[in-house]
Amino acid sequence: MKKHNFNAGPSILPREVIEKTAQAILDFNGSGLSLMEISHRAKDFQPVVDEAVALFKELLNIPDGYSVLFLGGGASLEFCMVPYNFLEKKAAYLNTGTWAKKAMKEAKAFGEVVEVASSADANYTFIPKGYEVPSDVDYFHITTNNTIYGTELHADPEVNVPLVADMSSDIFSRPVDVSKYICIYGGAQKNLAPAGVTFVIVKNDAVGKVSRHIPTMLDYQTHIEKGSMFNTPPVVPIYAALQTLRWLKAQGGVEEMQRRAKLRSDMLYAEIDRNKLFRGTVTAPEDRSYMNICFVMADEYKELEADFLKFATEKGMVGIKGHRSVGGFRASCYNALPVESVQALIDCMQEFEKMH
Ligand code: PMP
Repeated sequence: MKKHNFNAGPSILPREVIEKTAQAILDFNGSGLSLMEISHRAKDFQPVVDEAVALFKELLNIPDGYSVLFLGGGASLEFCMVPYNFLEKKAAYLNTGTWAKKAMKEAKAFGEVVEVASSADANYTFIPKGYEVPSDVDYFHITTNNTIYGTELHADPEVNVPLVADMSSDIFSRPVDVSKYICIYGGAQKNLAPAGVTFVIVKNDAVGKVSRHIPTMLDYQTHIEKGSMFNTPPVVPIYAALQTLRWLKAQGGVEEMQRRAKLRSDMLYAEIDRNKLFRGTVTAPEDRSYMNICFVMADEYKELEADFLKFATEKGMVGIKGHRSVGGFRASCYNALPVESVQALIDCMQEFEKMH
């Protein structure tokens, strides 16, 4: 039976990315060696990193003066590296959920953290608006897509301070004005690659300004200077990332990804709103995520939750159980998810409705 992969991350990747990576694991560039057996300093591997960096810059229209890094440690290590490198006195954070809170927690060890707004009281069912960002902060940190709660900032905020963003779960799903940011980071395991590599886009002249000593591995300067080769980078995930970047370009880039994401999410939200059995969890329609679509059973049908999960699972839906802090269902619709998978889920919802 065909599986429809709605996993929240690690998650669906384009089939050809998996096939090309599998091929290179068997034989890298006809070398007779596996991608898993070569040195990161092998002469054939440097072009992989160089092309991945170049495609990152091209696809996101990254201006001159920025570096693209491939590191380890996940987005979670960036929660700490960001304040280590950029927080001299004070930073502002927008509290939009679990990941934003974790980022704030790390920053508090380095200086004053101003929570400019929070939707915690409403279980993060919307993105706060109308807040003020103090003009004297070192940066303003946002989480552009809240993977757990299914809310998303669909445009770069208009503020007069440098931005830092966790884009783990919506990178390459829309155009971004990178010039507004000093740093954009994320775990690769949604729209880019298998788990194991972290991408960081960093503005070169924003680093090296804090007065504290930064351990070598946590200093962005180290990785900028060494082109992500200070220590052994995650070779296989970087290779897979390159295949995804090539795929992205061939498909038409981030504008096309945005068009597809909107199409998929419009279809699914329309069904959630129409179907009497279900209810979307995000209260502000403009904040509904294109990537993680969260819904629960309508109050009168609460007792059907386990039945629907079983029904949908039997029809090939994978990974639609909601995160424990929201409950219900979450259909993650990342770049590689075909529209047919969304239609298959909608068919399930309609068939289940007819049974009740
Ligand atoms: N930020 C966001 C928005 C996420 O969705 C996740 C993981 N799902 C993280 C951070 C943490 O990423 P990692 O596991 O790579 O540390």
